[in-house]
Amino acid sequence: MDAELLGKRIAVLDKGWIELIDMLPHPNAGVSADLAIVNAARVSFMGESKGPEKDKKLLFYLLRNHHTTPFEMVEFKFRVRAPLVTWWQWVRHRTWSFNAQSGRYTAFEENDFYVPDVWRKQAASNKQASDGQVDTETNAELTRQLESLYQQSYDLYSRALEAGISRELARVFLPGFSVYYTWVAKIDAHNLMHFLRLRMAPDAQHEIRVYAETIYEHFFKPALPWTAEAFSEYILKSEQPPQ
Ligand SMILES: Cc1cc2nc3c(=O)[nH]c(=O)nc-3n(C[C@H](O)[C@H](O)[C@H](O)COP(=O)(O)OP(=O)(O)OC[C@H]3O[C@@H](n4cnc5c(N)ncnc54)[C@H](O)[C@@H]3O)c2cc1C
Repeated sequence: MDAELLGKRIAVLDKGWIELIDMLPHPNAGVSADLAIVNAARVSFMGESKGPEKDKKLLFYLLRNHHTTPFEMVEFKFRVRAPLVTWWQWVRHRTWSFNAQSGRYTAFEENDFYVPDVWRKQAASNKQASDGQVDTETNAELTRQLESLYQQSYDLYSRALEAGISRELARVFLPGFSVYYTWVAKIDAHNLMHFLRLRMAPDAQHEIRVYAETIYEHFFKPALPWTAEAFSEYILKSEQPPQ
């Protein structure tokens, strides 16, 4: 794996980002993450690498045949800054381990709120989804109204703190779905593929899809090139959900 992936931070949405803070196997371990998967599978008969061609073939066989546990031998630990509307959906994936910034310990800052660049319209065909966008003038007006609301909320929050109200309670003045939080989030490669399949899909909400796509493009693919290729071929392009 490219050692420079550790510590790499990619911007997402208006104020968010994802940073890879640790990985198993560690980049200095002398074994690529793809090979760690192959070696884990070969423990069945106490073997290790048989050269790139056979190793890659075995990895593809594993993914194609749902032999998933070797993929759990690779882990990613990210630090992520995302608005609550994203976390609300992300935490439904129970195979991630999380630690979250707490608004009880740390006061929020004035610009800690998500402002969409584009106001998407309600989709006619899917009650959950959005489709298309409003005209430029409406877009600007909605953004102006949102920023004014954020300012008002933040002023009330600050006044409550100044009046001695606790941080844990003063935050009820803040616009819930929009507040940015920084979390540490860890997952293994098998469960990450499940998350990516669901959250990179066209029916996933934009505000989580961009995080899933960033993980896939900037961290998963460079760290696990063989696995990413097999994942694309057998899972992303497949009509059938994996077992
Ligand atoms: C487009 C989209 C729309 C959605 N809409 C809604 C909605 O309207 N309302 C809503 O509430 N949720 C909604 N969700 C969330 C969805 O129902 C799942 O909670 C979420 O996608 C996590 O999926 P998961 O349980 O497979 O993943 P994980 O929690 O990561 O679990 C991974 C896998 O582990 C296994 N597993 C984990 N825990 C258990 C368990 N306790 N028992 C048995 N097996 C387990 C399952 O096989 C599961 O697939 C939506 C998700 C998507 C992608």
